[in-house]
Amino acid sequence: MQRYQYLIIGGGMAGGRAVDGIRAIDPDGTIALLAGEAHRPYQRPPLSKGYMTDKEALDAVFLKPEEYYAEKHADLHLGVWATAVRPADHMVEVRNGEPFHYDKLLLATGGQAKRLSLPGADLPGVFALRTIEDSDGIKAAAQNAKTALVLGGSYIGSEVAASLTQRGVQVTMVFPESRLLERLIPEALSQHLRTKYEGKGIRILPGTKPERFTGEGHVQGAVLDNGQTVEADLVVMGVGIRLNTELAAEAGLEMSEQGGVRVDRFLRTSDPDIYAAGDIAEWPDRIFDMRRRVEHWDVARTQGLRAGRNMAGENKSYPTLSYFFSDLFDLSFEVWGNPAGSPDVVLRGSLDGGSFAFFYFVDGVLSGVLAANRSKEETKAIPRLVRDRPRREDVADSLADESIPVSSLVEER
Ligand SMILES: Cc1cc2nc3c(=O)[nH]c(=O)nc-3n(C[C@H](O)[C@H](O)[C@H](O)COP(=O)(O)OP(=O)(O)OC[C@H]3O[C@@H](n4cnc5c(N)ncnc54)[C@H](O)[C@@H]3O)c2cc1C
Repeated sequence: MQRYQYLIIGGGMAGGRAVDGIRAIDPDGTIALLAGEAHRPYQRPPLSKGYMTDKEALDAVFLKPEEYYAEKHADLHLGVWATAVRPADHMVEVRNGEPFHYDKLLLATGGQAKRLSLPGADLPGVFALRTIEDSDGIKAAAQNAKTALVLGGSYIGSEVAASLTQRGVQVTMVFPESRLLERLIPEALSQHLRTKYEGKGIRILPGTKPERFTGEGHVQGAVLDNGQTVEADLVVMGVGIRLNTELAAEAGLEMSEQGGVRVDRFLRTSDPDIYAAGDIAEWPDRIFDMRRRVEHWDVARTQGLRAGRNMAGENKSYPTLSYFFSDLFDLSFEVWGNPAGSPDVVLRGSLDGGSFAFFYFVDGVLSGVLAANRSKEETKAIPRLVRDRPRREDVADSLADESIPVSSLVEER
């Protein structure tokens, strides 16, 4: 049996940052990280953006250089898959190896890309995207592809469509919603994006789904549920993730109704020696007074760090305002708070001018902001304003007026 004071399962953003968090508080405690993938901890956003377009090298994908873990005396066990957690024995079993003993355990197991189980989905040339190998496979296939079909009109689908277009592939996007990023951005921005995408030569087919993939020996296209056929030498599914929560559920940890792992404000699960962070963790968000689980890079980053510090004894609550970013061609935008789905928005700036911010209100209270190309001063003030949760009638007119700085609306502290 291998014994560690701190054991981390998962080599993504949350697991990787937990190493930093533990070491910031405890310089000596023994640390091991079990990464099911054969890579040191890495982040996924470049896989659909800079790494997919070859603007960023593989080095930019990893959180830290290889030497870092030796310097921090953290043992990486790469390609080691945990198969069971035994809370009563403080033990983790692994595939093909000796079990690990822990004092404190972090579950940072994230998710895996969903694949649609349709006829032809196992043909070569049909991909999902979650790992370095997936991104490499798509890039290799794109080299010989003239046409690609991208399934899904959310962030991953929209980013992959942009990246493949930049690689010279003719892309068709297919998704069941009525517009791009329907659940996430206002209609006016969806329309603006559609115009931009079509201007780059991307064909957009909303309100439909594939029924089967065609081709012999390699994918050649798809038949849609409206009878239309689409030619494609390459298919990428961006249709969501399935959480890796079996370990937590089988260990008897309390799960949320939506399938995440329930944690308290210190990111502790129902077992006081087991923490959870990142895509799998559902935490009590005090800013919005609700339990939330968010599948975003910054939440994994800040929760991993906080969980690590708390495992090492710091015990501070996780209060971070959730944050997200995306790059779609030359449009980079940032999102703070919880804007999902609200139709009540105030626009500052102009879409055509390329510099704008949407302020989202839910029940008359500011709940989130999506901003693109705003000044540094404004993007510093926006998260503070979201934390204040002002009422619509107090700020809407001023937000729509660019001559009034956002910082002037933030409460003095
Ligand atoms: C292509 C792509 C682009 C993205 N772009 C953005 C973006 O622009 N902005 C943004 O905010 N978010 C983005 N995201 C989402 C973001 O990457 C995730 O929220 C983040 O990766 C979650 O980190 P995590 O550490 O919780 O989980 P993961 O990154 O999924 O890492 C979990 C790791 O644990 C491993 N694991 C699971 N079970 C076991 C086990 N039993 N034993 C050992 N290891 C195990 C998995 O193999 C995996 O390596 C993107 C995601 C993808 C896939």
